[in-house]
Amino acid sequence: MPTPRDLLNAAKAEIREVDPREVAARLDHYTLLDVREPDEYEQGALPGAVHVPRGQLEFAIESRLADKGAPIAVYCAGGTRSAFAAKTLQDLGYGDVASIAGGFNRWKDEGLEWALPATMTADQRVRYHRHLLLPEVGEAGQQKLLDAKVLLLGAGGLGSPAAIYLAAAGVGTLGVVDMDVVDSSNLQRQILHTLDRLGMRKVDSAKAALAALNPDVKVRTYDVRLGADNILDVIDGYDVIVDGTDNFPTRYLVNDASLLKRIPVVHGSIFRFEGQATVFYPYVGPCYRCMIPEPPPPELAPSCAEAGVLGVLPGVVGSIQAVETLKLLLGVGDPLVGRLLSYDALEETMRTFRVRRDPACPACGDAAGPIVLAEYDDLCMPHKVGA
Ligand SMILES: [Zn+2]
Repeated sequence: MPTPRDLLNAAKAEIREVDPREVAARLDHYTLLDVREPDEYEQGALPGAVHVPRGQLEFAIESRLADKGAPIAVYCAGGTRSAFAAKTLQDLGYGDVASIAGGFNRWKDEGLEWALPATMTADQRVRYHRHLLLPEVGEAGQQKLLDAKVLLLGAGGLGSPAAIYLAAAGVGTLGVVDMDVVDSSNLQRQILHTLDRLGMRKVDSAKAALAALNPDVKVRTYDVRLGADNILDVIDGYDVIVDGTDNFPTRYLVNDASLLKRIPVVHGSIFRFEGQATVFYPYVGPCYRCMIPEPPPPELAPSCAEAGVLGVLPGVVGSIQAVETLKLLLGVGDPLVGRLLSYDALEETMRTFRVRRDPACPACGDAAGPIVLAEYDDLCMPHKVGA
């Protein structure tokens, strides 16, 4: 009967061990795999390590590390469990696996860099379980969402579903800009608000709804009219802007400010039974002015006047905006950059159209001068107020 020592020696004879310093010098080469227990991992880990406890290795590893040819450096506390883990990985078909000799203890003793990993609470693991099951999100992706800051322009038809889904998904900071009061005519489509909050500031009603849904979300409210004088301060520090505004003046202002701050804008608009969504990624794809260089005259601009809209329509378009926002934050999939998605509720069809960057765009084009934020009046007439 072999002793544990015999088993360890047998495993070590079949795997490669690597010195901590060699791994530390080539962190961009190795994928680090931590096979310790969760309580050990939470007290400190190698930077960027993937964490799969030894007991879950066989069943969990393929969803966490799909590339079986990638160089993997696996570690535990002292180098024993990682030796067995390395042997298991080899048996599973991973071709380039090494066990870090001496493990995390020797790594620390040699003064190499380590960090306290951001970890989720037990409640968060339950709440975001369906995200954690997706390799494209997983714990690292969920942590990105929890660390993310998204600014919602408008707590109305589009902003409502976007805010609710982003809060539910665990986006950690949501800013809400709106200067209106909840009115009974809003309730046909603005699902953030309720009958018992009529007359309340919309930002406060939004904050109450989001806080009731997910305590992980910090809600910052801006009960202001966005203008050339305040927009740069308001959008500062946000990762993504979700534009649910319904007028040309604000869209131009948002476009120009987002170019200055290089913050992507997830745009949505609705009219009667039709909606559109796209992503304006500064200097990567087209901007709003590439698509619509100047505001239409007021008599031709339906969004400057009140228009009818089917109640559910903003739910569809605002949800697409939420999807695009999550994709941008997670860095997965093909965001709607350079593509305009058009939804027709009566036909029940969706089409996408190419939108190209305009080299002659007055805002983001090659020959565009410095961006000067302009204020537009209620009739959609621009007048400059300085940068
Ligand atoms: Zn442009």
